[in-house]
Amino acid sequence: MTMIKKNWLPILVGMIYLLLIVFRSDLALAAWENSRYYLLEMVQILPVIFLLTVAIDVLIPREWIVKRLGSDSGMIGYLFALAFGSLSAGPIYAAFPIAKTLYQKGAKVGNIVVILSAWAVIKVPMLANEVKFLGPEFMVVRWFLTVVFILLMALVIEKAGVKIVAEEEGIQAPVAVKSDYCIGCSACARKMPEIFVMQEGKALVQQDLSLDQEQKNQLALVAQKCPTQAIAVRQQE
Ligand code: SF4
Repeated sequence: MTMIKKNWLPILVGMIYLLLIVFRSDLALAAWENSRYYLLEMVQILPVIFLLTVAIDVLIPREWIVKRLGSDSGMIGYLFALAFGSLSAGPIYAAFPIAKTLYQKGAKVGNIVVILSAWAVIKVPMLANEVKFLGPEFMVVRWFLTVVFILLMALVIEKAGVKIVAEEEGIQAPVAVKSDYCIGCSACARKMPEIFVMQEGKALVQQDLSLDQEQKNQLALVAQKCPTQAIAVRQQE
């Protein structure tokens, strides 16, 4: 059942293909031709992207990302995210694994929004083409308005508290600290000493936790405020 739940999309696509093969083989063939084109494109691009995500993960220190893209990065963070997304190359789906790695290393949600949006609509090579076909005035006005709305969107999403649901494989406890991510700021231990203790510069979760609803609500806030998103709170089924 869990396997079906996790893979519902490919299963659904497979079923649609089966139906098309049975009832409209011409459409099934056309769909397969399109899929083949995108699959070949992905096979060429994704290995490079995965190498890049591994490089970000291994070579760039968490503190560096937290400082430039984390919750206290302010306007510098937005500008950095804007430059990162604008100077990128490749289709937008290539941006998602990179965005996830940056998020897991401490980038805040607003900056992830800026990176993805800039990657999708204001990439530098695309701007050069836009000037060629539509003229510089059009490109400058569109670029300016797009940047303003991207920043507004990032602010609104941050204020609304929208979260990225990263996979927390292997975490079984109701609450856990991913020690690789923890930078030892001790904010969690100060806010909820009944749950977190600091040990050798890292936060640890106390054993045998029994939390009431108020504590669970406060815990969700503390996890949200952790500058590196190191606190994983398992949703109760
Ligand atoms: S708030 Fe996050 S980074 Fe700071 S000590 Fe707690 S778990 Fe570590």
